[in-house]
Amino acid sequence: SNAITLSALTAWVREFGALIDTHKDELTQLDSAIGDADHGINMDRGMAAVLAALDGEEFPSNAALFKKIGMTLVSSVGGASGPLYGTFFLRFGAACGDAAEVDPEGFAKAMRAGLDGVVARGKAEAGDKTMYDALAPAVDALDDAIASGSELRAALRAAAGAAESGRDATTPMLARKGRASYLGERSVGHQDPGATSAALLMRAAASALG
Ligand code: ADP
Ligand code: MG
Ligand code: MG
Repeated sequence: SNAITLSALTAWVREFGALIDTHKDELTQLDSAIGDADHGINMDRGMAAVLAALDGEEFPSNAALFKKIGMTLVSSVGGASGPLYGTFFLRFGAACGDAAEVDPEGFAKAMRAGLDGVVARGKAEAGDKTMYDALAPAVDALDDAIASGSELRAALRAAAGAAESGRDATTPMLARKGRASYLGERSVGHQDPGATSAALLMRAAASALG
């Protein structure tokens, strides 16, 4: 079967943590231009806590694994990104359900549920210059690819590419949510830090699940 196993999902989260660690200085640098210079620090603290929480633990289901991940992010990250990513993973896991694997269609639906959670939490819309602007096109691309019969590997590559294009498209945007919105016009011309970490989440999915 082409089901995504619990251990593959765990590998995705571990790969995301590794990419965050590699890119933490870049993420903090981006946040120093339009925020408070802590996005890399926040995400690295959160993902280090997640990886520590996963070590040596066995989880009975997708929902249990991602509940642990989401709760750990919410409780270990002080910034806006902790509750936003935490909610993403909590909703993702709840939508994945109580099995210990998920098929590609279920994975795409769970990604949509995670994205809906980010919106429920932060109220971002397209073009507000947030992580939504990388995640939403990725989820759309994933849906389209799976619905048209693509292999998971190709679908995840399309999603990762869409996230990177969405990330790049945040540069000319004027921020309307989060700290960057306090800068008004001065937020224009800078890539959004959260859209940058969200593109890493999708890159991790393409490399660990594809
Ligand atoms: P803080 O702004 O509290 O220091 P971080 O620096 O860790 O938190 O995260 C900033 C990122 O969070 C932004 O670059 C943006 O992508 C994302 N963000 C902020 N507010 C929102 C929101 N309301 N909805 C979605 N994403 C948001
Ligand atoms: Mg910040
Ligand atoms: Mg902060």
